[in-house]
Amino acid sequence: MEDQVEEIKRKIDIVEVVGAYVSLKKLGRHHKGLCPFHSEKTPSFMVNEEMGLYKCFGCGAGGDVIKFLMEIEGIDFRDALERLAEKAGVKLVSRKRGDSDARSKMLEVMDLAARYYHWMLTEGNAGREAREYLAERKISTKLIETFNLGFSMQSWEGIVNYLVKKKGYEIDILEKVGLVSRKESGGVYDKFRGRIMFPLQDSSGKVVGFTGRVLPSIAKEGEPKYLNSPETPLYHKSRMLYGFVQAKNAIREKKRVVLVEGQMDCISSFGAGVTETVAVGGTALTEDQVEILARLANQIILSMDADEAGNVAMKRSTEQAERRGLGVKVVQIKGGKDPDDIARNSPEKWKKMVEDSVDIYEYVMERAFEKNDSKSIEGIKKITEEVVPFLSKIENNVVREVWSKRLAEKLGVDTRAVMSEMERVNGGRKTVSKKNDEKSEDVNDSKISRLAKRFIGLLILKMKDAEVVAPWFSGLTVPGGEGKLISWLFKTSLDTRIEEMMKTMPDELKEIAGEAYMAEGENDKVGEKEVEESAVLLLREVIKMRKSELMDSMNKAKKDSDDAEEERIFGEMNELNKKESKLIAFLG
Ligand SMILES: [Zn+2]
Repeated sequence: MEDQVEEIKRKIDIVEVVGAYVSLKKLGRHHKGLCPFHSEKTPSFMVNEEMGLYKCFGCGAGGDVIKFLMEIEGIDFRDALERLAEKAGVKLVSRKRGDSDARSKMLEVMDLAARYYHWMLTEGNAGREAREYLAERKISTKLIETFNLGFSMQSWEGIVNYLVKKKGYEIDILEKVGLVSRKESGGVYDKFRGRIMFPLQDSSGKVVGFTGRVLPSIAKEGEPKYLNSPETPLYHKSRMLYGFVQAKNAIREKKRVVLVEGQMDCISSFGAGVTETVAVGGTALTEDQVEILARLANQIILSMDADEAGNVAMKRSTEQAERRGLGVKVVQIKGGKDPDDIARNSPEKWKKMVEDSVDIYEYVMERAFEKNDSKSIEGIKKITEEVVPFLSKIENNVVREVWSKRLAEKLGVDTRAVMSEMERVNGGRKTVSKKNDEKSEDVNDSKISRLAKRFIGLLILKMKDAEVVAPWFSGLTVPGGEGKLISWLFKTSLDTRIEEMMKTMPDELKEIAGEAYMAEGENDKVGEKEVEESAVLLLREVIKMRKSELMDSMNKAKKDSDDAEEERIFGEMNELNKKESKLIAFLG
């Protein structure tokens, strides 16, 4: 067993495995991306291929490839190992699992149920009508396989007979996973009857629930068109993204995801070649769903119904997505069709519509202007009421101002009027953009920035050297975030582990720290005096910059005949020269 674990780890490329969940960018000897284990906008999650390890500098998550799979999929060691073994082509020495835990038993039941329904659709006599129906709707055999579609026959005890009588499972577990309903008399019956079955898979492809769409030819009065699994220990609606497993690769590649409402929309869109499509149901995106999508995409393209409910869903989804730093676009569907119709009947047209999707704010504005007469006072009022609350939710001040201006222009009113309406809607929240005073810093400090990062990287690796070099920095200012980080590091306890350090480090410094540290490579030994040398190189540049600033001030003081100022500058210049000589002496 032990040897097999090592063998698997050796054969598996951690970057590839992690890359299936996180969009990674190569950075030196590491790969970097947004951490899938905590919410962040700037990447502090690193993967090192050579060491086969991942590490998040934001939340401290870290470990090997097996740990990663366990954590991200919520599976146990054995499951993770099995999946990797399969990938690596290693045959695991079988071992009786004994009493497997309840969860894997439930997953087993769901997997069997999906197979049973699938067989019924593709081979069973009872599935003939369903086959014809899907063929009519241009759902190809390939799509049926890809999405593992099935059919539940019109029987009260189809799945019960199969799973209990034939496979020997207990009725309780069927009830637990939502395959059966309880009769008043105490017995159970099939929950899904006479329905096309859409297995709902978790992000690793395991079947956790079903949606059943009634077959029109056998639909009964009063039965819902769609029936979903109830919430179970396996299935949580708020986390479900239908088609995610099938779309995963395309989403990662294209860095975007198309959201549709229903399963049929999803399958047809996929069939039309828009393989980055997932379905979320008629409701707004939840935080959990956005979390999953944001690991792979940086843009979502909404394609919801254009009714009131769809509108509300769109607004909420936009808020959720923007909070997570995702851009939002909308497919403009006209003429009351749904994506399923269009994608099924004119795949090329659907593809083009997705490509032509417009920015969410553009969409909302256009819709409001289409519906209302912008020439009348009443119309202007309605448009404002519709658009302003939407725009007021934009978190980025600059973006909000740009759209406010556009709205004002279209309405032919002053921008200030729109802005103040926005403030009113927001309950007094200031919408005026903040002055960006960071910009005033000398931008010509890229050399200093480079040297500072090198110093930071080495210092983090050998914090005890801080004692030696910290005094050298007194009276000198390293510009920018690097400077702030260096001061912060000097104040930090010397024997803190990196994970601990990152926990207390202010957010805005983490990226610099992660980058500087990763740039050094984890297995590099820091040489004797290396930290000191790098500090000297950095400080010499800082002194050079300060001196050139002082020269400018000196010239100005001379011009103004400000003797006192001249004296002061002269003094500082002297100090700098002394410091520099000491540093040079250190370098030898
Ligand atoms: Zn993290």
